[in-house]
Amino acid sequence: MVQIFEMGETESKEAAGNTKVDKREEEDPTKVLHVRAVTWDGETVKLTVEPMNYLGKGAFGTVKKILLVDESSGTEGVAALKNPLGPERLNSMEKAILLEIRHKNVCNLLYFFVDKLNRSHLILEYVEGGDLFQFMRTHFVHNVGLGEYLELFAYQLWRAIAYCHANAIIHRDLKPENLLVNPELGTLKLTDFGCSVLLRDEDAGKEMMFYVGTLVFRAPELILGSTRYSAKCDIWSAAIVMSEMVLGKPIFYDATAPKAHMKKIADHIGFPTELDFGDMGVEPIKRPSHLKTHSIQKRLAHVHLPPPSDKPMLEKLLEETIIYSPAKRPTAWEVLVHPFFRWLREPGLVLPNGKPYPDLFDFSEFEMASMPDAVRANFNIAF
Ligand code: AMP
Repeated sequence: MVQIFEMGETESKEAAGNTKVDKREEEDPTKVLHVRAVTWDGETVKLTVEPMNYLGKGAFGTVKKILLVDESSGTEGVAALKNPLGPERLNSMEKAILLEIRHKNVCNLLYFFVDKLNRSHLILEYVEGGDLFQFMRTHFVHNVGLGEYLELFAYQLWRAIAYCHANAIIHRDLKPENLLVNPELGTLKLTDFGCSVLLRDEDAGKEMMFYVGTLVFRAPELILGSTRYSAKCDIWSAAIVMSEMVLGKPIFYDATAPKAHMKKIADHIGFPTELDFGDMGVEPIKRPSHLKTHSIQKRLAHVHLPPPSDKPMLEKLLEETIIYSPAKRPTAWEVLVHPFFRWLREPGLVLPNGKPYPDLFDFSEFEMASMPDAVRANFNIAF
């Protein structure tokens, strides 16, 4: 079967609002649908959508694998269909964001169609292989780490974040379940923008919801109730995802409520200082009477990372990113040039199946323009 879906000529994206799916078809999840859909760049097409199997459930929708036939050209291919669970207003942001972005480390939008309740159904690239949570479980259940997939997948996660942040998008729900991986190709794609926001310069200082994302991965400024946070909350979450890729579970993992979770964090990185509270934009909280003296380094002490992984560099990276002050956390671009990822630049790297690594440095004009000078210089990019 061929992977299809070349995007058509540009047409107004607003025209999209008129595409409807028959209400009776919408009610049966196994029924083949015939829909008028809109491509990512605004062309209207007729599609046959044949459900194959259920893939999973996210915050705002259920996802299934589908067979798609473009009725005009007859071409067919596999994709993922995300059906909304809630009302239109809950999934409109995800669609708006996916219409803004296109990147190899993002699970891109192929088409969408709108039902009679005005809710958008999203047709996304299908990623063969499952999500990072499932991938990690198969490794850690046998007590083996991720090997070279640690750097390979983590790097692509940071690249996806750098791209989103350059587009003023804060993902806000970074976690292994939202990272789709294909170990055979060595690729990772970020998905589920259901909790994301667009925060352009003109929106600076805008109040945002703090009760968002999964607690284990949520940045402390959000846990403590800040409503004027920045994209740096994603940096914290991605670092916690990395800690899980190393330990098999997130570094602060057994807390069930925000207060208990904050205590866990303080057990490892100390209690926030006055300055930290100020940087997080929150009022100081009462210091717990007993704090443990764990540290990131101690938590990683038993972890064996065979070469080419650089364990001291990994500790350094996690210590630099898992910090209270959002402003002092590095940007995603800075993480990408961290020495921990250095060996990924070796020429001729191959995956365990003998296939070459995906190209990790094929930056678009847009990416190159958004990189700080020092990062561009580190990548040896003349601009
Ligand atoms: P989401 O609502 O996007 O978080 O999706 C829920 C789950 O469905 C994910 O954790 C994946 O296991 C699966 N899934 C979502 N999107 C895709 C896709 N495009 N390709 C393959 N599996 C997917």
